[in-house]
Amino acid sequence: MYADVLVEYGAKALDRKFTYIIPERLSNSIKVGIKVIVPFGNTTINGFVINIKNKTENENLKEIIDIPKQNFILNEELLKLGNFIKENTLCSLISAYQCMLPTSMKVKTIKSNYQKYDEYLCLVSRKDALNYIENNKRASKQLELLNKLLITDKILKKEYSNIVVNKLLDLNLIKIIKENKYRINKPNVLFKSLTLTKEQKDAVDCVKNSFNKSDIFLLYGITGSGKTEVYMNLIEEVVNNGKEAIMLVPEISLTTQIVNRFYERFGAKVAIFHSSLSEGEKYDEYHKILNGDVKIVVGTRSAIFVPFQNIGLIILDEEQSSNYKQDNNPRYHAKDIAIERAKYHKCPVLLGSATPSLESMARGLKGVYKLLTLTKRIGDATLPEISIVDMQSEYQKGNMIISDLLDKEIKERLLKKEQVIIFLNRRGFNTIITCKNCGYTFKCPNCDITLTYHKSSNHLRCHYCGYTLLNTDICPTCKEKALSNLGLGTEKLEEELNKKYNAKIIRMDIDTTSKKGSQEEMIKNIEDGNADIIVGTQMISKGFDFPNVSLVGIINADESLNIPDFRSGERTFELLTQTSGRAGRKNLKGKVIIQTFNPENKTISFVQNADYNALFNYEMGIRKCLKYPPYYYLTLIKIASKDYELASKEATKVFKFLNNKLSDTIILGPTTASMFKFNNIYRFQIILKYKNYEKIKDTLIELDEAYKVNTHVFIEIDNNPSRI
Ligand code: ADP
Ligand code: ZN
Repeated sequence: MYADVLVEYGAKALDRKFTYIIPERLSNSIKVGIKVIVPFGNTTINGFVINIKNKTENENLKEIIDIPKQNFILNEELLKLGNFIKENTLCSLISAYQCMLPTSMKVKTIKSNYQKYDEYLCLVSRKDALNYIENNKRASKQLELLNKLLITDKILKKEYSNIVVNKLLDLNLIKIIKENKYRINKPNVLFKSLTLTKEQKDAVDCVKNSFNKSDIFLLYGITGSGKTEVYMNLIEEVVNNGKEAIMLVPEISLTTQIVNRFYERFGAKVAIFHSSLSEGEKYDEYHKILNGDVKIVVGTRSAIFVPFQNIGLIILDEEQSSNYKQDNNPRYHAKDIAIERAKYHKCPVLLGSATPSLESMARGLKGVYKLLTLTKRIGDATLPEISIVDMQSEYQKGNMIISDLLDKEIKERLLKKEQVIIFLNRRGFNTIITCKNCGYTFKCPNCDITLTYHKSSNHLRCHYCGYTLLNTDICPTCKEKALSNLGLGTEKLEEELNKKYNAKIIRMDIDTTSKKGSQEEMIKNIEDGNADIIVGTQMISKGFDFPNVSLVGIINADESLNIPDFRSGERTFELLTQTSGRAGRKNLKGKVIIQTFNPENKTISFVQNADYNALFNYEMGIRKCLKYPPYYYLTLIKIASKDYELASKEATKVFKFLNNKLSDTIILGPTTASMFKFNNIYRFQIILKYKNYEKIKDTLIELDEAYKVNTHVFIEIDNNPSRI
């Protein structure tokens, strides 16, 4: 017998199968989808078996060496899914398979000690135990243990001393059994179910009616309208029907509260999946799925690949999030994978959001997706009232950070013991450090963007590549002590708030939450009322459900408006609407203050009026006019090299090639990419706009092939890029 093996080798040029002989001793264990170790050149390498056959034309074949010690196998569905990813993202097949596995499952990193056990004691035979008790009347620890084991069938070994245990083991009265132990272990808690509102019930019923069809639903529900409750109700149904559910959330930081709600309701039926789990935890969670111990997975993007066999529902919460798109190879979108898997399992996909992407809403309105709506907040809660403050006039009054209105409202909340969220989408202390004498500005030597000053570590740091420099007060060019720090980050904002108010302040951004568990602790503190003001970046803009928050302040709303991307209006609306949505979710009336230099801006006024429809119509008009999605599909091609001249020359060549090959396609460029210099690599870009992917696919593959072996110029092809 022979096996076709796809080897795990980085180079794209090697992305093809090699045939190996299946040795007799392995013939029973080798199956399609399993990992194997094979000889390759003069080394050994891992690979996936993708086909088994009786005959081969090839001669001089080598034998498969072994099967790595792990029980993972890519099932038929996932093997097929790999081809789908390759076709649509133009990645190598092997990288598609690799991204389906958590890192701890990759052969290279697998360690035997990921598996943890608990040791239990149990009786060898009841009769022998009874006999022993009969003949040994003197009270002893041994007797106590045997008596207990007659009642319960197993006891944790560590509850008894080794002397006691060893004596009974020697007498062959008890034995030790090992059971898998999972690091994350949540008990069910008593859960009081809520009565759904009419709107919630209608949404639930609609999806239930499609349980055996691969329909796609868009649940458009304003912030706090009870979408999560809808998800949980449906999942409960799915699990009761003996099927499995996948629930995706866009960011780890958003999972904490949602995961807790899932644990409360579903206990040990839930596995979680995100990048800040330890390797051991990932291994465990994965095995809970493989062993059939869980029915529900809550996780970020890559959780879409979990090897459930009988999926009944896939949910993407905050479906508009760009985090669902992987921005390195393979550049897949979790929504596309969800839809593909749903076709296979004949189950619905539910996309949920308070601010759906224009693409999804357009499909919803056309009937491609089934549109469900939740228009009201739960109970008596209403959307918060939003005020806009013009910072131009505040500056003239000397208010550089906090406007008079925001100041007054914060003071009121502190008096009433209500909580305040202050949002600023910039971390660090100062974001620009320049010399007043010569005009020098500190920039990253690798990426050509300004460095951010971090006060707590006293460093200047590049937020793209991580380059750091010890802080200084002397200008490196003119040697004068004339540096001035401009631009506001959360670190400085926190310091400012501390000076101004006598309040307990929690700051949540990447810098304060990188330690494992720190985020959970902060959330607990907020829930327990041990925080008056929560300052943070977009980490606090979504998913947070704190009933005592009645005021949200947005500092510098212009930050994201100024990003040059065709989605910046949509993104700004989303960010400001979601952040505003944290206020007044339960009994308290919510208030939001947006500070901006563009009080007349259209997007900001849509936010103020909570008018998604107006945003949708306005942006769709622009998209149609400029031929952007959802009217056209986009492909972003980047041409990159360490050598500026070379990158520029090749970009022109690529343009000519595409121009010759493609008709019915708008080809823009080449221009410099938005992060032109990144990690010392220069990048140019070309944008394609088209209606039909199938018509341009072969040309893209040809282009990709042409640069596979080029070591000086790299080509990156990104279909449906999340930003350009
Ligand atoms: P969303 O996900 O749309 O932002 P949530 O599901 O978080 O909204 O609901 C907002 C709040 O309302 C939560 O605290 C939730 O527990 C509560 N809630 C949701 N549905 C109901 C209901 N039917 N009855 C009572 N409370 C509800
Ligand atoms: Zn950098």
